[in-house]
Amino acid sequence: MYQALYRKWRPRTFDDVAGQEHVTETLKRQVALERLSHAYLFVGTRGTGKTSCAKILARAVNCESPADGNPCNECPSCRGIENNSILDVLELDAASNNRVDDVRALLDEVVYTPASVKKRVYIIDEVHMMTPQAFSALLQMLEEPPEHLVFILATTEVHKVPATIVSRCQHFSFKRIPADVAAARLTKIARAEGFILEDEAAGLLARLAEGSMRDALSLLDQCSTGGDIGRERVLSVLGLAGESRAVRIVSAALDGDAPLALKTLDEVYSAGGDMTAVVGELSRLTRDCLVTKLMPRGGEGLLSGGYDADMIDALSRKASGERLYACLDALARCAQDISRGLGGKLASELCVIKLCE
Ligand SMILES: [Zn+2]
Repeated sequence: MYQALYRKWRPRTFDDVAGQEHVTETLKRQVALERLSHAYLFVGTRGTGKTSCAKILARAVNCESPADGNPCNECPSCRGIENNSILDVLELDAASNNRVDDVRALLDEVVYTPASVKKRVYIIDEVHMMTPQAFSALLQMLEEPPEHLVFILATTEVHKVPATIVSRCQHFSFKRIPADVAAARLTKIARAEGFILEDEAAGLLARLAEGSMRDALSLLDQCSTGGDIGRERVLSVLGLAGESRAVRIVSAALDGDAPLALKTLDEVYSAGGDMTAVVGELSRLTRDCLVTKLMPRGGEGLLSGGYDADMIDALSRKASGERLYACLDALARCAQDISRGLGGKLASELCVIKLCE
């Protein structure tokens, strides 16, 4: 069975984790010096390595021969945790386990010493999804944690986690992965998978993934249908090629040509285009125009990289910075409206009319 690249290449040691050295170096030192906390809180956007680091930490604290704070991944403890046969290490997704009974049942177990490893480790993903009752049960545990217990809580939305919980955890912030770091890892993985990913293509995929290694690898998966991958391949597979319909819509809108803009939008819709993705592309394109407008020179590194620089330059000349900013604002509102359930077609039509004004 085909295994997705992001699963296959999930980092197995702290040293393999891309772009989070401020987190991984601290955790390695804590493991090496055996100065562990009872509770960790990993905060960051999706795909930045929170769950990977939690899994690595669960093995490292139980490893029989850790090397410089990294788990060896070969001893019975490491192997048992990795293949889920050791029940002392549990991974829960609060999004699907947020009922208070589940948490209570879990917390009833924590008083027992671990059966086969040194520490019981509970990884709770998306912890902000827990109910208030579940939080208070968890808080009781964190107030007087037994010696053999480690909690690793992970969240994308730390503001939804009660302050009483946050204050009892050691807090680690995961950054968006810089495009050059993500690109280097993509290149390395491509080589190991037996194909060549050209530098330009790697840079483009990394920028499109916006700091998420998981998204970067999923994009690489989409583009890798055998053979080497260059920039053109990425653009065509991801539907960003040449004079795309998105470019025609933005161009017509900036010319104030509402009939043409709406007609093109309708073509995209009729061809089965997903309106959320279309609005996302219009936003990316408009943002690139604004960046080019504000930074005629030196702004290339900030561009999404999905479009031809000359074309972006020509588009950005059609409107003032203020107008482009207003367009971007309207597109952001439209994306919100669609996510709130307003029909995608209607919302994007209203938005395109606004862009033409
Ligand atoms: Zn080990």
